[in-house]
Amino acid sequence: MTIYPTLEIPETLAAGPGPGNTDPRVLERFAKTGVADHMQKDVVRGMLEAKEMLRDLWGTKNVYTYGVAGTGFSGLDCVLSLILPGDTVVAFPNGTFSGIDSLTIRMKAATAEELAANPLNPNASSVTIVETPHGKPVTGELVDKVLAEKKPKWAFMAHWETGSGRINDLKGFSDACVKNGVMGIVDAVSSLGVADFNIDDYPGVVAWASCPQKGVLALPLTYAPVSFTDKAIEQVKARGCPSYVHHPILNARHWGIIDGKDVPNAAYHQTHSCYAVASFHEALRIILSHGRANKAADYAYHEKALRQAVEALGCEVTSDMTSLVVLNLPGDLAGKEKDLVAGARAKGFGIWPTLSEPVQVRIGILNQLSQQQIEEIVSRFADAMIEMGAKVDKAAVLGGLKSYYAKAA
Ligand SMILES: *Cc1c(COP(=O)(O)O)cnc(C)c1O
Repeated sequence: MTIYPTLEIPETLAAGPGPGNTDPRVLERFAKTGVADHMQKDVVRGMLEAKEMLRDLWGTKNVYTYGVAGTGFSGLDCVLSLILPGDTVVAFPNGTFSGIDSLTIRMKAATAEELAANPLNPNASSVTIVETPHGKPVTGELVDKVLAEKKPKWAFMAHWETGSGRINDLKGFSDACVKNGVMGIVDAVSSLGVADFNIDDYPGVVAWASCPQKGVLALPLTYAPVSFTDKAIEQVKARGCPSYVHHPILNARHWGIIDGKDVPNAAYHQTHSCYAVASFHEALRIILSHGRANKAADYAYHEKALRQAVEALGCEVTSDMTSLVVLNLPGDLAGKEKDLVAGARAKGFGIWPTLSEPVQVRIGILNQLSQQQIEEIVSRFADAMIEMGAKVDKAAVLGGLKSYYAKAA
């Protein structure tokens, strides 16, 4: 038998696509919450309040808006559970995460025979996968063209594809769904809490999923926000869903949503953690008091600073998300992306390579929305480049960053 020593995890600078730097107030709620069971009145009240704050954050009147215990893919599993074997689906992946979502879709839409033929990577004949290359956006024209031809029951897209830092055409996707009588499902894992948008402005989309660790910034054991329109819930009512824990209707009961209505109490679904509820509640309070539009503007402002600084270091930025910069290293460092990232990570500077080809470097600014934090990120990235042999004038680049902020102020 081995009893290992206490697990110590150091504080690092989480400067990747996610998770983001958790606000100390969220951690404080986690640590200071008393033990209480999942039906205790304040735990339940916290869930009911979180549900209402989540509707404000999503910009929706959808009654079926709540959190799924777990990570982003837990929320996605819940919304993609709308899809039953044999359902026709068109999915529009353009990178790592929408690629994994497309695998989930093929697993859910596959017939029993198709699943047995290739259990880990089924080929479902009712699913059409329309790939857009890494770094390129999914356009409304493409979605409209394919939906008009295929007339599927469901269509799927990621809003912000974090794999390459690319924003996809949400309005075009929603419009194409409405026009062609298709029900849209969207992975909004990376955009919720960063971008300023109301999901009710996109009526072609009937189900949305996000995550705790990116824009919502509630990493400790938390909730993946989901939202379903009544139309989506009607489908589940009529056809069922082969999952208890990720059942869109049953899961909602613990958040005080029963028979399509808000009720003042909860019905047991699973043993929700009082610590997680309190942390998630605090994270929502923080975003809403900052203001969704202000937050989005802050991201755009600081992303621009980081973008200009890495360009001054000779890198080429290819992304358009405001929480993340995806870049190619200058010519003399090309091919050394993974080594550079590994070197940085070994020093507690948590940047990332892309997870699918081509290999690029990803630097994120989740909850790093101050001049000082951006300067720290740029300084450490410049050091990582210098370590790999780059000739860069770090002082000049940091000077440029200072004048960006001075000008803006
Ligand atoms: C991060 C991410 C996911 C996965 O979220 P997890 O919390 O790792 O489960 C899915 N989709 C997108 C677009 C993401 O950025």
